[in-house]
Amino acid sequence: MSLHPVGRFPAYRPRRLRQSAALRRLVSETELNVSQLVLPFFVRTGRNQRKPIGSMPGVFQLSIDELQRDATRAHALGVPAVLLFGIPDTKDAKASGAYARNGIVQQAVRALKQELPDLLVITDVCLCEYMSHGHCGIVHADKRGGKILNDPTLKLLARTAASHAEAGADIVAPSDMMDGRVRAIREELDRTGFADTPIMSYAAKFASAFYGPFREAAESTPKFGDRRSYQMHAANANEALREVALDIEEGADIIMVKPALAYLDIIHRVKTDFGYPTAAYAVSAEYSMVKAAAAKGWIDERAVTLESLLAMRRAGADILITYAAREVAQWLREK
Ligand SMILES: [Zn+2]
Repeated sequence: MSLHPVGRFPAYRPRRLRQSAALRRLVSETELNVSQLVLPFFVRTGRNQRKPIGSMPGVFQLSIDELQRDATRAHALGVPAVLLFGIPDTKDAKASGAYARNGIVQQAVRALKQELPDLLVITDVCLCEYMSHGHCGIVHADKRGGKILNDPTLKLLARTAASHAEAGADIVAPSDMMDGRVRAIREELDRTGFADTPIMSYAAKFASAFYGPFREAAESTPKFGDRRSYQMHAANANEALREVALDIEEGADIIMVKPALAYLDIIHRVKTDFGYPTAAYAVSAEYSMVKAAAAKGWIDERAVTLESLLAMRRAGADILITYAAREVAQWLREK
């Protein structure tokens, strides 16, 4: 709290400025706007495919034609950006599908940019969905299952990011949490003629139980072990700031904190300390918990969703990645 003078009761009565909706709006410190929203999508092969994700009501794995339909609807409501995750038909130990010229994400990017040139298409850059073992990096097998190799993975990530840029992605978003990957990606983008493609780095990505429903959606559950040797420990905030500092030094343009609601302190510190464009990812369980409680009639879905997103904004987030982006856009219109 700053040491500026503040009024005292009874001369100062904070309730004076809460007496009407117009007054409350006039002194509102934080605003939620449709221009801040990013809607994630899961894209798969085929036609007319809408495979519901059981733990995320209203979210589907979509074939590209269906993706175009849903993205068009979201864009018409004012949602300016989408974030793509790919579900390939086949997986291997080199994640070939991640950087294939005709990979599922590359095809989806081309289709979206052709249909909706003004829609910002952000691509998740990772290998887990394309690896037979489901980890975000190359695995060296050992007795305990395997070790995730950092440096050899960087090349594949860089190649993946460049292939997304080549397909027309507006922003690439590495989510793997390997050390040094932002630099590797920046160098590869610059080398291949994409110096103007921004990087939105999942800089402070925590090993979180809130990712549960996403695993079903992206079919990316690791076959052995977990992701705690690369994603961050939930106990650490100072380390998150070091991760962010590293990514900024390596060339990140936008910084992301993931998950969002349980990590508002991190969002606040990142925004305060670095002042970079900051994204908050309201992850799958944040969405599913609201949906489940609302379905039971225990909470007001709209009010809880809007309040949660406003809290992320208040903490310092400029960009809000949420599976509820379409509903939120609709609600903001009705307000
Ligand atoms: Zn991954």
